[in-house]
Amino acid sequence: MSIRLYNTMTRKKEELVPRELGKITMYVCGPTVYNYIHIGNARTFLNFDMIRRYLLYRDFQVEFIQNVTDVDDKIINKANEEGVTPEVLADTYREAFELDMADLGVMPPTMAPRATEHIDDMLEVISCLVDKGYAYESEGDVYFEVDKFAGYGKLSGRNLDEQQHTLASGPEDRKRGPWDFALWKAAKPDEPSWSSPWGPGRPGWHIECSTMSTKYLGEAFDIHGGGLDLVFPHHENELAQAEACTGKPFVSYWMHSGMLNIDMEKMSKSLGNIRPLREVLIENDAQVIRMLMLGTHYRSPLNFSDDSLADAAASLERVTNCVFNLEDALKRVAESDGASGKTDREEHLLKLLQVYKEEFHDRMDDDFNSAAALGLLFYVVRDTNTYIGEMMSRGLLENKETLLEFKRVLDDMFRALGLFQSAYGITEESTVTRVHTLESRARIVNPRVERPTRDELIDLLLEVRQAARDMKSFELADRIRDSLTELGVRVEDVPGGYRWRVER
Ligand SMILES: [Zn+2]
Repeated sequence: MSIRLYNTMTRKKEELVPRELGKITMYVCGPTVYNYIHIGNARTFLNFDMIRRYLLYRDFQVEFIQNVTDVDDKIINKANEEGVTPEVLADTYREAFELDMADLGVMPPTMAPRATEHIDDMLEVISCLVDKGYAYESEGDVYFEVDKFAGYGKLSGRNLDEQQHTLASGPEDRKRGPWDFALWKAAKPDEPSWSSPWGPGRPGWHIECSTMSTKYLGEAFDIHGGGLDLVFPHHENELAQAEACTGKPFVSYWMHSGMLNIDMEKMSKSLGNIRPLREVLIENDAQVIRMLMLGTHYRSPLNFSDDSLADAAASLERVTNCVFNLEDALKRVAESDGASGKTDREEHLLKLLQVYKEEFHDRMDDDFNSAAALGLLFYVVRDTNTYIGEMMSRGLLENKETLLEFKRVLDDMFRALGLFQSAYGITEESTVTRVHTLESRARIVNPRVERPTRDELIDLLLEVRQAARDMKSFELADRIRDSLTELGVRVEDVPGGYRWRVER
């Protein structure tokens, strides 16, 4: 059993053969931190989280690097608009991004290098390209000379001669060829800049990704991912920079996540239909969003609408109801302490479960086809409910082993798909500091404020205790107090009432 994945470079599905046995090195382009991310960005990050979690589930060690672009025209412009420095602006939205990802249940990257902390590394790569004749200086800018790199266009399959007319306008007079792109941009007044052999300036966007990916994962690594809109020019340029400098193939597999449309239309500023993720999270549980994303193959376009959200919520509810049913049944069977032999019906169901599980793996192995794999999850949900229903109606719930097997299969599928998992992953694979304590996440406007807080629940229990005392049910009142004490909540009776605090 091996995993096959679609490689944008070869335009076909290929067997995943890691460079190092049992280990996958993976780089996914991260956010440019100038604004809150929208639901389309979120889809890309969720898709790669699903892929990463499935690789972990299949026992690969996964090294997952995702950059933070914290110097860029968009950041400088927005900082000017908001009257803050670009550093402050970038820091604010980087933190917002991390919180959004945690709220969405996306595992933090193994490492999240920032562009501004890797300027020297980028200068080294740019020098390498200049020295090898692939790049040239022009009025303080440094450009990559596309004509010098024979493989240019091999990732995107673009024929550049035919596309001259689509070129965006730019400082054409500084460039030798129309497709040449900036590795280094000469400093403009009031912009952040760093010194370089070509004078003060700042790096271009493409150079940061090829520099940081190869710095942390090696000159060649397994998977490079991003949104489909990054194939050209961003990934084509990254590839040219990396391979021109090292002389080696850069990446084994290029993976791209499909676009997200809103109500069948492309999301765009001009249509005014951009949906920030945190706004969507106000009304929808993160698991609903994940369920919606899982329901479409990661490379296919996904339509995001109120209807598709409602469908995802209904699907998720079927699953959570089943989990509740199963846990309830397991509790009862544990109490009845029965262990009878399996019936023919149970033998049949257990065999069927194995078939579902294998088919589930086959579908996920086939280019992470979560949409098809979900079908199998729903078979298991249906059969679990039917089995429990049959047993309950006959007043029998005796075979714990059968119930446990249903639970194991469901848990495996959840883990493989990333459903109901913690943001911090399924293994200790990530060494990233857990910066998102519950408290820090509660500081931002919590989308789910409707839910009772811990303190509200403690208050409620103590009101019940007080009512018990008023009715002279001292035994019950003491039981409530003692149970709270066991949980670390100290209750003191004081004149006219009571007070409480949580022990540290
Ligand atoms: Zn990138």
